[in-house]
Amino acid sequence: MPDTILPVREPRRVRFETRRRDLTVKTIDDLSPHMRRITLAGDMEGFQSLGFDDHVKLFFPDPETGVITLPGGEAKAIARDYTPRAFDVAAGTLTLDFALHGVDDGSAGPATAWACRAMVGDILVLGGPRGSTIWPVDYALHLLIGDETALPAIGRRLEELPPGARAMVLVAVDSPAEKLQLHTRADATVHWLFRNPTHGGHALADAVARLCFTQTDIFAWVAAEAEEVRVIRELLSTRHGIDAQRLKASGYWQKDAGGA
Ligand SMILES: Cc1cc2nc3c(=O)[nH]c(=O)nc-3n(C[C@H](O)[C@H](O)[C@H](O)COP(=O)(O)OP(=O)(O)OC[C@H]3O[C@@H](n4cnc5c(N)ncnc54)[C@H](O)[C@@H]3O)c2cc1C
Repeated sequence: MPDTILPVREPRRVRFETRRRDLTVKTIDDLSPHMRRITLAGDMEGFQSLGFDDHVKLFFPDPETGVITLPGGEAKAIARDYTPRAFDVAAGTLTLDFALHGVDDGSAGPATAWACRAMVGDILVLGGPRGSTIWPVDYALHLLIGDETALPAIGRRLEELPPGARAMVLVAVDSPAEKLQLHTRADATVHWLFRNPTHGGHALADAVARLCFTQTDIFAWVAAEAEEVRVIRELLSTRHGIDAQRLKASGYWQKDAGGA
């Protein structure tokens, strides 16, 4: 990799007041066999989300008591993070996309189980986003890497990139049936990677190891299973020379870790 001096760019961070919102399921659409879009409606007054990878916290009732606990409450909150895929404060709507995992073998956690069973009129309690990180859009290349859980953020980023921006997207899903339509005005190449059902493996990490770049002004964003993200972060930093200021890598879920 050539030793070039790269322009310094900082993401902008903004904090928001957050509060509980009880929203009602308005529409349910299956985008693919394992991706369900749920649009919620209700009091969206003051809702803000300026960053493509913001998250809201969804709160679920304790299965035994039926009580929903928020942070700071007596019991431990049962909470999961989801990306605001789209929102319209004036119309009072918020759209979330749920990757449905573990529905066939009964290992689905509370968020997926809720999304599977949801019906129009159901209530979902949420809070946030507590803040946004706004990444510049003028990198020479935007490298977006993720699995199903990253698709909402990747979809948002592709929609916000301006014409002329260059993006390379790597998405790992189970099969071609899981491919989604991604809209962008940018010059984007999307590579869909299909996991090998017999030896599983790290489809994304394997693909990242084989990437070859002719330039260095790259912003890399990664979200997937935590261990795979750890491997990808290491590859991007040591093999591809992407420094920490241009690299955001987050574990969006953890294998075999049902959480609180
Ligand atoms: C900032 C952020 C934003 C996110 N945005 C989205 C989003 O927009 N859409 C979305 O679908 N997810 C998103 N996720 C991931 C989502 O929060 C996790 O997948 C979460 O664990 C799902 O909760 P659950 O109750 O369904 O399962 P859990 O109770 O958390 O887990 C139950 C079991 O399922 C496994 N598991 C959890 N997630 C997956 C998965 N994706 N694939 C396979 N196995 C899994 C766990 O290892 C565990 O064994 C986001 C995560 C973060 C941190």
